[in-house]
Amino acid sequence: MTTEIHRIVYFSRNAIPGSEETIAAEIRQILESSRRNNTKADVTGALMFNAGCFAQVLEGPQSAVTRTFERIQRDPRHGEVLVLDYGAKSERAFANWSMSFVGRDLREKDLFGAISSETGFDASRLSAEVIFTTLHRLVVEEEKSAVG
Ligand code: FAD
Repeated sequence: MTTEIHRIVYFSRNAIPGSEETIAAEIRQILESSRRNNTKADVTGALMFNAGCFAQVLEGPQSAVTRTFERIQRDPRHGEVLVLDYGAKSERAFANWSMSFVGRDLREKDLFGAISSETGFDASRLSAEVIFTTLHRLVVEEEKSAVG
């Protein structure tokens, strides 16, 4: 029997105080924990950070995704967590990534293209579809440029 894949897409606001360097160091820690925990829990996905906001896609078995998200939601390093989509999906979109990250250069404000320019990261105007497709495109582009 195959396990049904669930996906959650959410948006949140950064609550890490300090300089860009401090924030970058904290995000490195988040990614380290994420990759270790998600690999064990069979969770995959992608995280992006830009303009003081996070957006993340988590996918995997329902109980693993729920447990992971409950932990993330309690994390004081971000707030105003807004779930944009949650449900069963036919397959994983980020199967190769325990937690891919987009936003390495915190100064690169244009990174999110459609999201930041069209919505100005206005949470009320964000859609799960835009976040999901943008993240997927950026992750695939990064993978191609790393290989090529
Ligand atoms: P550890 O990895 O052992 O903690 C490592 C270090 O991180 C600690 O020494 C501590 O300094 C610091 N730390 C841990 N928790 C906190 C905290 N709540 N506040 C401040 N510092 C802390 N976790 C995942 O497992 N998977 C994810 O995909 C994931 N995505 C995240 C996305 C965002 C936007 C944020 C803010 C957090 C995310 N996290 C994720 C982290 C999650 O919230 C927990 O901190 C983490 O899962 C705890 O893992 P651990 O028990 O192995 O702690």
